[in-house]
Amino acid sequence: MQRRITGFVLDEHGDWIASLDCGHRQHVRHDPPFTSRPWVVSSEGRADRIGSGWPCSLCDRFEVPAGFVAYKRTPEFTEVTVPQGLRRDHSTKRGVWAKIRVLEGTLRYHVPALNRQFDVTPEAPGIVIAEVVHHVEPLGPVRFYVEFFRAPTT
Ligand SMILES: [Zn+2]
Repeated sequence: MQRRITGFVLDEHGDWIASLDCGHRQHVRHDPPFTSRPWVVSSEGRADRIGSGWPCSLCDRFEVPAGFVAYKRTPEFTEVTVPQGLRRDHSTKRGVWAKIRVLEGTLRYHVPALNRQFDVTPEAPGIVIAEVVHHVEPLGPVRFYVEFFRAPTT
């Protein structure tokens, strides 16, 4: 999916990596003649790209960004106490990911924007992608909570 570039860092080999607003990092190589991105090797070129779009394959794969830490969780909910807000389409804020953790039963997790749905069980948590609209639907008795993740504060 399309994300926005928030900055650039160098890796240990001297290749540029773009930081994206989802929390992921993607290599942006200038490797002529195969990949020509002369703009990435100049500070002006990089500055011009801040805020521009970049496709993030890691978001497409529902991968929580490396190094993200849990900082908050909801109370435990059941099929009776699940807030209406979670049953309706909603999303997390920029840079905030979540894991839906089922303790007992099965919770259906819908991601309409990506045309995906998952049955979340104690063995398989649901991964909530930052800013991507989703909702949940209890399939019978269930106990679950949601745990939120973000970049570590330095
Ligand atoms: Zn991403």
